[in-house]
Amino acid sequence: MDLEAFSSQLTALRDRALTALEDAVDPDALEEVASAYLGRKGELTALLSGIGALPAADRPRVGALANPIRQQLDAAVATRRERLNSIALEVRLAQERIDVTMPGRALTRGSLHPIPETYREIVRVLGRFGFVTFDSPEVETDELNFQLLNIPADHPARDLWDTIYVEPPASDAATATSLEAPTVEAPRWLLRTHTSPGQIRAMREMRPPIRLLTPGRCYRHEAVDASHGFEFFQVEGLMVDEGTTMAHLRGLLDEFAHALFGAERPTRFRPGYYPFTEPSVAFDIQCVVCDGSGCSACGRSGWMTILGAGMVHPVVMRNGGLDPERYQGFAFGMGIDRIAMLRHGIPDLRAFLADDLRFLERS
Ligand SMILES: [Zn+2]
Repeated sequence: MDLEAFSSQLTALRDRALTALEDAVDPDALEEVASAYLGRKGELTALLSGIGALPAADRPRVGALANPIRQQLDAAVATRRERLNSIALEVRLAQERIDVTMPGRALTRGSLHPIPETYREIVRVLGRFGFVTFDSPEVETDELNFQLLNIPADHPARDLWDTIYVEPPASDAATATSLEAPTVEAPRWLLRTHTSPGQIRAMREMRPPIRLLTPGRCYRHEAVDASHGFEFFQVEGLMVDEGTTMAHLRGLLDEFAHALFGAERPTRFRPGYYPFTEPSVAFDIQCVVCDGSGCSACGRSGWMTILGAGMVHPVVMRNGGLDPERYQGFAFGMGIDRIAMLRHGIPDLRAFLADDLRFLERS
């Protein structure tokens, strides 16, 4: 190879390298091109290693030709690198751009579920008569849920109140399996079927006058449909004092019904039966759908039962540790679900627990 051929190869290499550098679209591609031409195993190095084939006199001239080209290419790499870096920065800035003038995302406002909303309304109305909330457990013993409420083990009412039985709490299980044989039968544990055990608990904890509301979840072995659930919300009212009569109960329930369903709405008592009250009544209001003319919602009767009530049974009073000769009381219990359905025209009980946002957002 002579000097002239070498020189033209050098020039051609430079031109290809310059084009390739311009075509490199990102820093990685650029480093690849730089290494392919200028690296230790690059084309320029390979070309210059052929210098030994030239006559000795030509070799310094090759150096004089090659050095400016290497410098030119090094400079081109540096320029291109700078350019690519500044493009990358522009892209990043564009991506991270924050438009401070954009309107914010609207916050969605929650609202109360119809069941607590209805319970608050019940508390608001009855609170004016001195009734306060009394919490009692969802897991109860057979004794508190049934026996002390005048429902012994063989009572037919138990069929209506079949429920979910649970393992005893750890401390109780330990007693039951203790080597020292327990002298009394271990209590049977269950999910309460009504909030009435709260009555016994309250009477044992408090002295009359007692005016309280026991709200909460209850459970029953129930086939689920639009008006029955295996899990539902109940609230009971209990009043115990000297000289309490059924007239007090009637007056209070009238006030309650008028506050929730309209001041002019007619009400009535019908005879009812509960093991823990005597006498017992069903409390009806005039149908809120047809106003008494008869419709499918009220079974053509014109009336709707909203709660059950009665005078506390003397046996229950004694089980609560109070003397029925001295104290009288009344109790009433209602499904909060049912009251909420009537107030809001909700046709299906299952909607309460279905977690459907469309239902929750409407309320
Ligand atoms: Zn009706």
